[in-house]
Amino acid sequence: MHKLLQLAGKLLSRNKLSILIYHQVLAEHDPMRPSEPTAEVFDWHMRLLRRYFTPLSLDDALHHLQHNTLPANAVCVTFDDGYLNNLTVAQPILAKYKIPATVYIATGFSQGTNMWNDRVMHLFADKDRQQISLQGKLIKLADWPQRRQLAQQWLMKLKYLPVGPRLAEVEQFYQENNVSEQTSLMMTPLQIKQLADTGVTIGAHTINHPILKVLPVAEQQTEIVQSKQQLEQWVGQPVNHFAYPNGVFDRDFDDTAVNIVQQVGFSTAVATDWGVSGMASSPHKLRRFTPWDRTALKFHARLIANMRQSQPL
Ligand SMILES: [Zn+2]
Repeated sequence: MHKLLQLAGKLLSRNKLSILIYHQVLAEHDPMRPSEPTAEVFDWHMRLLRRYFTPLSLDDALHHLQHNTLPANAVCVTFDDGYLNNLTVAQPILAKYKIPATVYIATGFSQGTNMWNDRVMHLFADKDRQQISLQGKLIKLADWPQRRQLAQQWLMKLKYLPVGPRLAEVEQFYQENNVSEQTSLMMTPLQIKQLADTGVTIGAHTINHPILKVLPVAEQQTEIVQSKQQLEQWVGQPVNHFAYPNGVFDRDFDDTAVNIVQQVGFSTAVATDWGVSGMASSPHKLRRFTPWDRTALKFHARLIANMRQSQPL
């Protein structure tokens, strides 16, 4: 069956590039994040890519895309945000299967502060806590599915607020409930450099992970340019790849950000719109895809099905 899918992929993937999105690779299962792959799951993902696909670095993929020379079933592996487990859990597995990868880092979270979404999740994750007060309302906490659902509801409520008010809300939740912060989930500058030294490509992902589209042009410029410069200083190499936070074209970013990204010299930029990219795609608006299937066959089939969407963004 895998062989058939590989063949289908060969036919569908002519000069098409698949780019996978990961965030965390967990050392152990986390009941608040059941869809994030564990080390065990990530291992079979990478084994499957090595066996039936052609994993490439973004630089090589871009070169082939522009020269119409992409090998069949070409795939890039990317990670968003800069989680520490990218270094401690994912990198050894990437090395084991010799899979090139790119990790996009939001530089504002490299000094010990967790991202706002993880801070919200943490509020609901303490299983000894039976209730929580949110904006003055007392809410009962029950089993994991209920806690996850509540966390998702609050994430959605806060997501499109400007960065300042959003952070203020999260602070308020922590104070209201006397919750202490979780230890840092993100890489420090030193750990980012360590990851770069293993051969993983470091890309930029803004400073504060804002929804770029709602920001004035000057602030978009600052978020994009300063994250690039900061990372270049930390890793001592040029940073040529960018990922738009949240990443849906037109909803989360528009041509304003695309133009800035292009002007400051990024060679590629990735969105989160699903599908694959082809020769007609702009290298600054590449599609990606989040694999979530629990069996190797479904995972493989989904990757092939994803190849049907190849309209340029
Ligand atoms: Zn992100």
